[in-house]
Amino acid sequence: MDANWQRQVLENEGLLGWTIREASDAYCWIETKTIQLPLGASPVLFLHEVAHALHPIPEPNHYHGGGWSSAFGWLVEKYMTVIEVPGQEENTMTKIRFGFKGRDQLPLFMVWREYIEDGEVFFAKVLFNSRDWIGF
Ligand SMILES: [Zn+2]
Repeated sequence: MDANWQRQVLENEGLLGWTIREASDAYCWIETKTIQLPLGASPVLFLHEVAHALHPIPEPNHYHGGGWSSAFGWLVEKYMTVIEVPGQEENTMTKIRFGFKGRDQLPLFMVWREYIEDGEVFFAKVLFNSRDWIGF
């Protein structure tokens, strides 16, 4: 992941004096204003930790309550987009979406494959949905 992009996000969100360091797992240390990330962490994992920095208040579900969800959703909407991956098979398109259905819901990370016939989607198969998977 681009370190310049990470620093730009922190600056944009008013997180001055924060540092990012490499570690074996991801964590947000409020007291020392440090975000730690494993090498090769995805942008969405970085935004997950930034949301903790923006909302450093204990909540149910190990800090992943409604306040954190709102912050994370807002960051995802701002910094992430739908990614389209043309299918290996003819007439398929795989799409990846980061986003939310509502402010109070858990973050959505979904991957699905669309099957296209005559220029229209006639079938879509969900390959992965974070709402089926606790912890995101
Ligand atoms: Zn977290």
